[in-house]
Amino acid sequence: MSLSKSKYCRGITCPKMLWLDVNNPEVGTEINNEAVFENGKKAGELAKKLFGENIDIPFSEDLSLMLDKTNEVIENNENAIITEASFCFDNNFCSVDILKKKGNSYEIYEVKSSTKVKDIYIEDISYQYYVLTKLEMNVEKACVVYINSFYERNGDLDLNSLFNIEDVTEIAKSKYYEIEKNINSLNNILSNKKEPNNPISKNCISPYECPYFAYCTSSLEKPNIFDLKRLRSTSKFKLFNEGIVSLPDLKNSGIEEKVRVELGYKDKKEDLINKESIKGFLNTLSYPLYFLDFETFQEVIPSLDKQRPYEQVPFQYSLHYIENDELKHKEFLAYPGVDPRRTLAEKLCEDIPMDVCSLAYNMNFEKSVIKRLANIYPDLKKHLMNIHDNMKDLMVPFYNMDYYNGKMAGSYSIKYVLPALFPDDPDLDYHNLEEVHNGSEAMNAYFMMQDLSGKELDSLRNNLLKYCKLDTYAMVKILEKLKEVE
Ligand code: SF4
Repeated sequence: MSLSKSKYCRGITCPKMLWLDVNNPEVGTEINNEAVFENGKKAGELAKKLFGENIDIPFSEDLSLMLDKTNEVIENNENAIITEASFCFDNNFCSVDILKKKGNSYEIYEVKSSTKVKDIYIEDISYQYYVLTKLEMNVEKACVVYINSFYERNGDLDLNSLFNIEDVTEIAKSKYYEIEKNINSLNNILSNKKEPNNPISKNCISPYECPYFAYCTSSLEKPNIFDLKRLRSTSKFKLFNEGIVSLPDLKNSGIEEKVRVELGYKDKKEDLINKESIKGFLNTLSYPLYFLDFETFQEVIPSLDKQRPYEQVPFQYSLHYIENDELKHKEFLAYPGVDPRRTLAEKLCEDIPMDVCSLAYNMNFEKSVIKRLANIYPDLKKHLMNIHDNMKDLMVPFYNMDYYNGKMAGSYSIKYVLPALFPDDPDLDYHNLEEVHNGSEAMNAYFMMQDLSGKELDSLRNNLLKYCKLDTYAMVKILEKLKEVE
């Protein structure tokens, strides 16, 4: 069998991607899609319950077993909901997430864990519609089932509110001949021994991050516009299409000033320092000064009341503060298995008094978490919004390039800024931490704690605390560095 729905979607995105998947996957780099995959699995399992009792076609490496089982179920049931029903027409295989059989008519449903219907999902279900129609099945409806981002859990999950269903039957019908043409063309490409020569384009990053980007750009002069951090991807591909590739090509291209600085300071040893602007930023701060950082988790299927899909749910914070010239520290880390938010919100109000100045690095994140807590707990709203309103962003001087050096490589992320400012300080090196080195590892560690006890639990908890503490300690040290230039 030469094509499946995922191969078809990759092939129409870029034929070369499909060809490399089949003929030379070793040249690709690993893309971590684990979270997307897990969310898809969870949403898929739950969406099956939307339609009531169903018959599942078990997955098998031997696709003919899935086809036979599907046939058997269809033949023996006048009406049925079948999950993973599998079909093949002329070597074009597809498994339908949810198939509704009503006598001689069918409805097909493709389930996605995304919160919107992307164009590629319509291509996906249109391919399924094509395969089933070719098999002379009467497909009355083709729909995409996706997550309603506005759903807020309240008690038991309300599946009809959690999922949105969009009917795309007419679009699927209209694509019938286009799909036939695409299938023929992809089959020709796959039967060819020669690698296709598709140019790089925005398809290299959307709808999938292509694993072959390094391979496909390996012949470009280094460094090139794709190495710039301050340039949006859309601008990079636009420039690329205009023939602007190497860094010298960028001259007179009308790109932003910030990219010029990034270019100019790429190999320079000295720092770029705008004293007046840094002074201006420091003058906005007042003491006692609090440095706050949250760790959060996200779930596609909300497990807590008043939680929305993919909402950032805080479970931990670290808080350094400078009071009377003395550096102090407080922290909070919830135990898993309980809703961490109320206790965290109360503790935060205890730890940060009203009307004090606080700092976060990329404060939009911390502010959005606090604002959501304030909406969930009206009795704490006044205090929480006071913290929210008095927060300043330590990222600003770096975002504005008021303090910049080449080691930041164009980035203003703390993960670049910190080692650029303190290259030889082992106490400020995230690599020296154990088990937890970044936000996604922190989220996984929080969930893992649920299955641990005793020393193992203590050790992981300790490592989580150390990680978050380093986030705020790093902010303290970065502020010290800014003060040195005053
Ligand atoms: S990097 Fe771009 S051009 Fe290369 S295979 Fe992927 S999508 Fe195609």
